[in-house]
Amino acid sequence: MKRAKVHAPAKINLTLHVTGQRDDGYHLLDSLVVFAPVHDTLDMNFDTSDLSMTVEGPEADGVPSDMSNLVLRAADILGEHLAAHLTKNLPPASGMGGGSADAAAVLRALLLRTLPPEATLDDIVAQLLQKIQALELHALGADVPMCMLNMPMHVRGIGEQMTPLRGIPPINALLVNPRRAVSTPEVFRAMTTRDNPPMPEIPTLPDAAALIAFLKDMRNDMQVAAEVIEPSIGDVLTTLEEAPGCGLARMSGSGATCFGLFADISDEELAKTAQTIRRAHPDWWVASGPLGNQFALGLPTFS
Ligand code: ATP
Repeated sequence: MKRAKVHAPAKINLTLHVTGQRDDGYHLLDSLVVFAPVHDTLDMNFDTSDLSMTVEGPEADGVPSDMSNLVLRAADILGEHLAAHLTKNLPPASGMGGGSADAAAVLRALLLRTLPPEATLDDIVAQLLQKIQALELHALGADVPMCMLNMPMHVRGIGEQMTPLRGIPPINALLVNPRRAVSTPEVFRAMTTRDNPPMPEIPTLPDAAALIAFLKDMRNDMQVAAEVIEPSIGDVLTTLEEAPGCGLARMSGSGATCFGLFADISDEELAKTAQTIRRAHPDWWVASGPLGNQFALGLPTFS
């Protein structure tokens, strides 16, 4: 197999509680993470003795193609050679884990390349979980381990403690980014409290309405600091809150992407609302679709 194609779905933090900071500077997190259908795509050619990449696509501006790109750093960790072509659809530095999702997609393809064709989905999940622990992937970024599986997860520690959750109902969402890059370290520096309460135990959530009700009492502890650094986040949140049927609007990661959740809306209505926001704010990035499990979307194909 000389080639692989793999998608890197966007990561969304439905909650992001910052519960402390270790002596080495890493922040302790407690987060409910899901994945969106919108994604970057990587085409890889393994028939090379180099490590190289090209980047194009609607959000490619400013994304490096040298060794600072997490795609190349991920391949380097495994000691692999490849020529990658990255189609960038997710705005960089946007709180959707873009670079981490790309790195995780490369690792997924490289690790699954050696699995026999008769491997079951359970084999694939087991293989990925085992490798995630073995490779200390959080050195690439706190979001890389969770982006390996693309399924709903409760994430703790510095991102390395992951519990896949089977009971999180899928939920329709709008994702809106004001196309203003936000630096994660800058937001961490601007936060005034780092030792906030963790999430309570996640209860049984029978449907999307129950999920929204639970999330309303949770937080993104980076949101206030991010809004000070990038005031357009406040405009995005207001726009989402005012959208018909929106049950909750909140920021993902360190921003600036925000999500609006809709418990009871048809796909057609959701697409219409997305279009209305695009027309009113042509400079914003807007996507829509169900948040939840994108494991299948993230599986590589080989040729
Ligand atoms: P997170 O949600 O993990 O905080 P993010 O969406 O805020 O992630 P990234 O999209 O990973 O942030 O981008 C952060 C920085 O990483 C960018 O400014 C860019 O210079 C660098 N970078 C390295 N590799 C990539 C990549 N494959 N795609 C986008 N940015 C990358």
